[in-house]
Amino acid sequence: MSVYVWSMQAQLRLVSHEEQKVIAPTLAEFNDEVRTFFESVSPRALDGVDGRLNRAKAWRRALFESGLAAIDYPVEYGGRGLGSDHLQVFTQLSKGKTPREDAAFGIGVGMAMPTLRDYGSDELKERFLVAGLSGDEIWCQMYSEPGSGSDLAALTTSAVLDGDEWIVNGQKVWTSGAQHSQFAILLARTDTDAPKHRGITMFVLPMDQPGVTVRPLVQMTGVSEFNEVFLDDARIPRSWVLGEVNGGWSPAVALLGHERRKTGTGSMDGASQSRSKAGRSPLPVAQLIELATQSGRAKDPLVRQDLARLYSGESIVGWIGSRGLHPSIGKLWRTNQGRAAADLAARLAFPASPAWGADLGEEENEIDDYFAYHVLNCRGMSLGGGTDEIQRNTLGERQLGLPREPGPERDTPFKDLPKN
Ligand SMILES: Cc1cc2nc3c(=O)[nH]c(=O)nc-3n(C[C@H](O)[C@H](O)[C@H](O)COP(=O)(O)OP(=O)(O)OC[C@H]3O[C@@H](n4cnc5c(N)ncnc54)[C@H](O)[C@@H]3O)c2cc1C
Repeated sequence: MSVYVWSMQAQLRLVSHEEQKVIAPTLAEFNDEVRTFFESVSPRALDGVDGRLNRAKAWRRALFESGLAAIDYPVEYGGRGLGSDHLQVFTQLSKGKTPREDAAFGIGVGMAMPTLRDYGSDELKERFLVAGLSGDEIWCQMYSEPGSGSDLAALTTSAVLDGDEWIVNGQKVWTSGAQHSQFAILLARTDTDAPKHRGITMFVLPMDQPGVTVRPLVQMTGVSEFNEVFLDDARIPRSWVLGEVNGGWSPAVALLGHERRKTGTGSMDGASQSRSKAGRSPLPVAQLIELATQSGRAKDPLVRQDLARLYSGESIVGWIGSRGLHPSIGKLWRTNQGRAAADLAARLAFPASPAWGADLGEEENEIDDYFAYHVLNCRGMSLGGGTDEIQRNTLGERQLGLPREPGPERDTPFKDLPKN
């Protein structure tokens, strides 16, 4: 059998399995390869490219063409077929170098693709993995609904099989990036007679169709990151199911694991290179030190103490990421770090008042001031991907072995449960 693999020269070519074994780089070779990418390929890919989405796509395409976008994915799906040691090399060397615009692929590459890889049929993997990993297609995540956020299994959006298609009706909310997405990972109820966790199915939903209406919501940052999505007789091909019909809870939890891992261990210092207002990373300490110096507060003992504490926090989040701890631990640390960093930025940048001029920048109506943006944006970090309280509940039940939250619902048919 022959498959496509990436060569060092960044060209897709057909080789046999035997040859693949030969071309797997040593860790030292791989180290050089990754360094070369960040030193020369990455800056060239972004040179002269304007606009957040264009930059995101240009960078991801370059990463993919260099064979570094899917290091541990099977070769036949555009991956490199390498193991965790190679992945670790990339993770270490990419710290602080991944442009923040790449956050546009946080859901697609970070969450949807690994779920497709692990739960998708061959048909779905062939159709979606290469296009998703190379940044040709953008994905969103349709989990939350107006009446079901933390209690995700209470969702009521329905999918009913009609011949060769599923017909979907309902409403989703807080759907990040839906306005830019071609596909969504959708959770919908397919059996109301089953208990609430057992009547849910995970689908791939094509966004570009008459039954899908996306309405952006303006957040307090001025940016419309997330949306309401109305599903009125939206259609999905019968086979576009991940995992089993009515067995969607298992891939749903797996995807949440990827999300928490990503939000808990993503690069902490990505923004130290650039001052982008994309993504959900804590303000880097290097930028806070710069701000303290510029505002003449760098010698203030209380400010220095806060900077030292934040520096420790930033290091700890990095270590949590490399130690394989439960993803909720990383997510809690990171959101705490995000709030503490933003609080210090607010004290340094806006000492006289919490108010600032609502100057609107040109792109997507966002507030022009970088620090003002982050002070407002950091609050959402504690909510997206599950609130802090839910992370603590998860840790209590799964790590500490505490009893489950009380409630009769786990075995009651969904249709007999009280609804919001
Ligand atoms: C920036 C951002 C991006 C997001 N992107 C997406 C997305 O792309 N796709 C998507 O599907 N969703 C997305 N969300 C939604 C997010 O997952 C939900 O906001 C979150 O799960 C909380 O749900 P909720 O807003 O309905 O709050 P609720 O569930 O109503 O919670 C309200 C409050 O009650 C607390 N609470 C609820 N249940 C419990 C409990 N059992 N024990 C203790 N406390 C509890 C919560 O912690 C919270 O403080 C996003 C949210 C944000 C802020």
